[in-house]
Amino acid sequence: MVRARRARKAAVYQPRDIEGIKAAAQATAEVLRELAGALRPGVSTGELDQLAARLISATGGQSAFRGYRGFPGQICISVNDEVVHGIGRPECILQAGDLVSLDVGIRLNGYIGDTAITRCVGGSPSRLQERLLDITRQCLEVGIGAARAGRPVNDIGRAIETHALAAGFSVIRDFVGHGCGRHLHEPPEVPNFACTKPGVELQPGMVLAIEPMLCQGSGQIVVNPDGWTARTRDGGLSAHFEHMIAITNADAEILTWPKKALE
Ligand code: MG
Repeated sequence: MVRARRARKAAVYQPRDIEGIKAAAQATAEVLRELAGALRPGVSTGELDQLAARLISATGGQSAFRGYRGFPGQICISVNDEVVHGIGRPECILQAGDLVSLDVGIRLNGYIGDTAITRCVGGSPSRLQERLLDITRQCLEVGIGAARAGRPVNDIGRAIETHALAAGFSVIRDFVGHGCGRHLHEPPEVPNFACTKPGVELQPGMVLAIEPMLCQGSGQIVVNPDGWTARTRDGGLSAHFEHMIAITNADAEILTWPKKALE
């Protein structure tokens, strides 16, 4: 999400709400798993968006992204130097070696699921691509590991940024993770970098979408004339992974973990 100007209070959800959020998160994870299986050379991002529409509809839910501030796609599909918020297009044909971020959001029974992965089309990433994917995935893991009751939300961003910088990649600072539950974007913001203020103290029942976005190069972004697609200013490759988690009294619970393994 784009950084907000004013913070509101973070929601603390009751177990019944967490179950509803988990159902939406599981539906989202399943749709993402199926879409990842459809990534191959020759498929257009427009076709992937149409497939997403069918898969989302089959869950009984609706896209949480379509219509959000006017977003025209079902999901976000961002290729190579595109970071986030890419729109599926029939003329965008995927090639072997393209790095594709798929970001899926579903509203189901009044609750939201939101999850993303990045994959190399054709399954043979370059060494650089593989490293970028590995480090971004690890950043998500260390961010989730830092999400503990009684600790400030800033611990998450610091853990992510430290891991990314040590590996020689930049974190995108223009977009942040977020609270998520009844609405797609709720407080608190969950930056992927350390802030000067600690931010809210995490409590059991808070639900967060943690979504590190890493790239080669400076980490500066520009937005395409479509008004949505954010890409790196210097053309550096970018990767993005996202899970929703519930804060508990012990380790955070990952809500968007797919029941079946990703292909
Ligand atoms: Mg998100």
